Amino acid sequence: MLNRNKESKKMDSKTIKELWKQLADQQLANNFAATKFNGYHQFEGSGTVKALFDSKGQEITELTGVGFVLFDQTVFYALGGGQPSDYGKLIVNGNEITVYDLNKQIIPNCYLHLVDCHQYLLKLNDECEQFIDVNHRLKLTRNHSAQHLLWSALDTVTKSGIEERSVGISEDKFYIELFKNPGLTLENILQARDLLQSWITANIKSQEIFMTLAEAQAQKIISRDFKYQDNVRVVKFGDVSQDLCGGTHVDATGDLECLEILEIKFENRITIYATANYDELQKYFTEKFNSYQELITNTLAKIKNLQPNYQFDHTMVKLPTTYETLLDLITITNQLKDDLKEIDKEHQKQLQELANTIKLDLISKITPKKISFNEYYLDNTMISNQLIRPRLINLAKAETNTILAYYNRGLAPNLLLFINEQLKDHINLRDLFNNLKEQYHLTGGGTNLFLDVKTDTWDNINNFIASLIEIL
Ligand SMILES: [Zn+2]
Repeated sequence: MLNRNKESKKMDSKTIKELWKQLADQQLANNFAATKFNGYHQFEGSGTVKALFDSKGQEITELTGVGFVLFDQTVFYALGGGQPSDYGKLIVNGNEITVYDLNKQIIPNCYLHLVDCHQYLLKLNDECEQFIDVNHRLKLTRNHSAQHLLWSALDTVTKSGIEERSVGISEDKFYIELFKNPGLTLENILQARDLLQSWITANIKSQEIFMTLAEAQAQKIISRDFKYQDNVRVVKFGDVSQDLCGGTHVDATGDLECLEILEIKFENRITIYATANYDELQKYFTEKFNSYQELITNTLAKIKNLQPNYQFDHTMVKLPTTYETLLDLITITNQLKDDLKEIDKEHQKQLQELANTIKLDLISKITPKKISFNEYYLDNTMISNQLIRPRLINLAKAETNTILAYYNRGLAPNLLLFINEQLKDHINLRDLFNNLKEQYHLTGGGTNLFLDVKTDTWDNINNFIASLIEIL
């Protein structure tokens, strides 16, 4: 049955990689004619099956399910020059075969198609109609072409002449990575973008011409990512860009839907991410906008909690339409984070002052063994035990033969406990804690002379203190 499902079926990249590896491991004989590639300006075509391999890489004459097909000619592009392979489908006798991936390296210049024939039995010499996923191809072609043009624009703007780079292309974006830092600035990159945008408006036609390697060298056409042959394919956009390349290109610069920078990484290597696909640009900006908006809302809520009269102009938070307005959004977010840090620092300072001066209630007792037991109470949700601890240490130091306990009723059941040096032969707080922690669900810990304890009920705290008093 012909599958009318328009969405191209996908196979996960790990399975694809494993299948290619199994095929490559077979050390296939190279007695096949090179495949003719018809896909530069065609999205549909036909081809005759010249060889078949099963999923284990064994050469066969009939294939069902997953395996590999070699055609005499194809419209499917195979990975090269940083441009990923096509995918799509074959139709044979009304049956649909899914094409997941291509390879032209395992048998040099022979285009192997990784396919799933499903129930159909594909045979040698079968004639298949070929259909690539057009949307996938067009997006890759735009980004691939834009990558040539952005590189030329950068060259024009900086006159750097630096050749070393790597490139990557996917549907949503492309990147250019400069191996050596040529002193490229943000301003340079934005100038190059503006220049490229003016080329899009000018709608410069592309040309794909073949010449000898010697001719290409004489014309100083910079070569990259290319295996040299005697005849090379040169891609030109008017006089603004020329490259050796086997990839697919737009007919004219006006076919790029847009050109915008998405991200720039200024590290040892400079990496520039950009896109020539308008819907991918919108998707990227919308995702960035949503995540920054969430960050802004959360940060602002924290600030307002500390400083209710904090003023923030919400009209500044806008959906980015350019790289610059994306940077504005990032700047606003960072400014807000800095403000929160400052306000929080000031708040912590004020809390520390409060902790140092707030009145503590005190109940003093003498235990049967004539030891002073001073219990300090506070009822305050703002002052953490960490903030009050230095003050209590000083209070404990000022006494002799004393146990000091501190409770903040404003917090979850808690206890800070100090004993004087003179009492260390009578009791070891750490041992006491370890002996009773399960019984009273105690968490925290401390030393022989100090404990910082939390638990789930105030009864547990009271019982723990009662056990302490019993010993002393
Ligand atoms: Zn190219």
